[in-house]
Amino acid sequence: MNEADSELMAGSFIKRGFELTDTLKKADAVVVNTCTVRQRAEDKAVSQIGRLRKWKLARPDGRIFVAGCAAQRLGGKYLKNRFPFVDEVIGAKDLDSVDAAVEMFFGLSSPASREPRAANYEPPPPASPVSAFVTAMRGCSLKCAYCIVPSVRGPARCLPPEEILASAADKAAAGAREIILLGQTVNAYSYGSPSGGLSFAGLLQKTSELPGVGRVRFMSPHPLYFDAAFFRVFRENPKLARYVHLPVQSGSDRILKAMRRGYTRAKYLEIVAEIRAAAPEAAVSTDFIVGYPGETEKDFKETLSLVGESGVSFAYCFKYSPRDGAPDPAPGVPEAEMEERLTRLLAEVKKNSSDILNARIGRIEEVLLETVDSGRTSANFVVRLDDATGLKPGGLVRAEITGVKKNALKGRFIP
Ligand code: SAH
Ligand code: SF4
Repeated sequence: MNEADSELMAGSFIKRGFELTDTLKKADAVVVNTCTVRQRAEDKAVSQIGRLRKWKLARPDGRIFVAGCAAQRLGGKYLKNRFPFVDEVIGAKDLDSVDAAVEMFFGLSSPASREPRAANYEPPPPASPVSAFVTAMRGCSLKCAYCIVPSVRGPARCLPPEEILASAADKAAAGAREIILLGQTVNAYSYGSPSGGLSFAGLLQKTSELPGVGRVRFMSPHPLYFDAAFFRVFRENPKLARYVHLPVQSGSDRILKAMRRGYTRAKYLEIVAEIRAAAPEAAVSTDFIVGYPGETEKDFKETLSLVGESGVSFAYCFKYSPRDGAPDPAPGVPEAEMEERLTRLLAEVKKNSSDILNARIGRIEEVLLETVDSGRTSANFVVRLDDATGLKPGGLVRAEITGVKKNALKGRFIP
């Protein structure tokens, strides 16, 4: 979501004739787009801002913008007081005001001070031209006990279908073959009335029909919002990636309840089974939080056993990080214990992933190339091709999976 917001902000500069650079020396403006989902993310963002003091001393006419969720949480007053060299603070709820802020500092058109582009100037390619994020929903209306997102991003808001589809179509026209629809509970997407509106299933279908779109993914769905219409389109539309990133957070019903996730372990497993019933080759990945207050060794063992039982191909594992307003009634898990549980969980995930990768050997897969000789399968496994002459990023090719190396599959291109 943060990356998608960064792209949106970059758009405000690009339309005024700016170019993107990641070289501070060349920059006229720096935007620090911050995250605060865990304290560590915020700390990193804050130290990044601190490091810009030197840049501003050398470039007094340069402009520094601090945006995003940590900016929202900490507030403009605090940030400008602590970092007086920051020019503008734009919280995550005020994304709409970025354009006005850029206009205020740089005017409506290309800044006069900028040198004209050299004749042979080539704009840098976007980060991943093959795969593009498109925001479908902003904010979140759930109230998971550990989570700061609803407070910094506000309640859930579905964007109008025209806006989402126009953005996806633009990105496809610019070369993206894969569209990733984004939202904190993206499968809760619904716009307009049930009779005349658009559901999440409808949005997936329409996105897949856009010219140039070869694959559609989405992130993150929530276990509460799957419906029959979704499973139908997932089963029937081959352009939908055979991949669902479905965060579970914990394998223990007691902890899930304390987290206010709204489902049980059994319910989660039921949804995973439904995903696999609709598409047997589908991969499911997840997020886990270890060390939630009150988590016992018994609770943690239930998280460990869920890895194998759900057959997740991959998991992002986080240590619990206390955020504002998060009620911590139960005793906290000591840091050393959290660290130890994290290590055990990562080992379990790794072992499981390796089994799942090995099970793909011998299969014929469709690979969306991200470089000339590597890409991803529909189930989101990285494949490295060993004999890929003449292939180009963005191509959808067939490959036979011949082995596993590190965390990726090895494949033989089938002409
Ligand atoms: N909306 C998504 C999650 C968005 S936040 C969902 O509900 O599935 C991304 C991930 O960050 C979460 O899945 C969770 O694993 C992690 N996370 C969020 N808040 C956290 C906290 N306070 N401490 C540790 N991890 C956290
Ligand atoms: Fe946070 Fe829960 Fe909303 Fe995800 S669903 S963003 S974890 S409150």
